[in-house]
Amino acid sequence: MSAYFDENETQSTEERLARQGRRMRRMLREGSRKSKRFKAILDDAGIDPNAFRFPEDMEKMPVISREKLVEWELAEPPYGGLDDPDAEIDRIFISPGPVYEPHLSEDDPLWARAYKAAGIRKGDIALNAFSYHMVAAGLTFHNGLRKVGATVIPSGAAGREQQVQLIRDLKPTVFSGTPSFLMSIIEKAEELNFQFGTDFRIQKACFAAEPLLPNVRETLEKKYGIDTYTMYGATEVGDIGFECREKRGWHLCEEVYVEIVDPATGLTVAPGELGEIVVTRFNSVFFLVRFGTGDLSRLIAEPCPCGRTSYRIDGIAGRVGEAVKVRGLFVAPSQLRALMKAWPENALQIVVDRKDDKDVLTARLFCATPLSDALTEKFRKNFRETCTVGIDRLELVDRKEWDIQTPLIVDQRKWG
Ligand SMILES: [Zn+2]
Repeated sequence: MSAYFDENETQSTEERLARQGRRMRRMLREGSRKSKRFKAILDDAGIDPNAFRFPEDMEKMPVISREKLVEWELAEPPYGGLDDPDAEIDRIFISPGPVYEPHLSEDDPLWARAYKAAGIRKGDIALNAFSYHMVAAGLTFHNGLRKVGATVIPSGAAGREQQVQLIRDLKPTVFSGTPSFLMSIIEKAEELNFQFGTDFRIQKACFAAEPLLPNVRETLEKKYGIDTYTMYGATEVGDIGFECREKRGWHLCEEVYVEIVDPATGLTVAPGELGEIVVTRFNSVFFLVRFGTGDLSRLIAEPCPCGRTSYRIDGIAGRVGEAVKVRGLFVAPSQLRALMKAWPENALQIVVDRKDDKDVLTARLFCATPLSDALTEKFRKNFRETCTVGIDRLELVDRKEWDIQTPLIVDQRKWG
């Protein structure tokens, strides 16, 4: 077994939790000594770092949103008082907000696990088309590629024509960047009369920062023969998850602890249920615990055939504000759109109301042709499988009554 697919990745859940618990307690002890703000957060939550039970006590600490972090950083620049003021920091990244992030050390294995899982290794030449300007992306992805032994072309945000020229001259085997940028480079190459699949050597692409749409993935893999992988992270906490060769969800990185929580309460939800991705990165410099990404996903607790024992998360189902909660479970627009892929002739609206202190979910299915009882039953079943919650009332409506203005989700509940 080589580095970045190390023994940590195949540990049992108990071993992993024991290791992460040790790191968490160390972070709490150091943080409470070095950062007044962090100490105050722990005191408010009634947490004694020496008596901290992991992971049970995580829920006692508040979730810190990006907005909150920006507010603290504005009040107390540059890191909102969450840092160790005496720490040696290699780099400071800047992202919109502005949010400042101390990048701890170039020894950090950021993204290395992801590239390793994608099969990138010594001998590969990677075109790293993530921006190197101010933000963390370019340099942290660059470091990850170097950690697995690849040669890196730091093409960053160079224009499309120049990227094509680099691909032609330097023959990279890997593209690292966003899917839309790769598609746009391919388009440019074709304009310049190159056959992207045969004239060039790019065999793999590792994507982050935007969703890889299924049709784009299919085009890249089938038409251009590029094996694609996606990675997930947030600028405030670094890498969070990555795809292995199975490409079914993102394995969680060993350097972070990820919780899927109900944004209203900050409490974790059961595996399989939708909630906000909340991340803590173990470190001794920047004491940001329970960072709320605002992204919705669900935990996959089943083991993966690749041999990694880490839990996975199931892609991004949407942003916290877009989803609606029905009987304690989130239903996100992306789930409804995924469901409707199997019902392409039809359109959907869900209406959530409250009756006798219970949530009532009405699905209005706008049908092009009347549905048989069997198909209606199938729709209910599909709905439950995709969205976890079931339909209470199903209304079949003429397709003509739907138009582009029809909202997908309507919440008619009145609270308080
Ligand atoms: Zn796997």
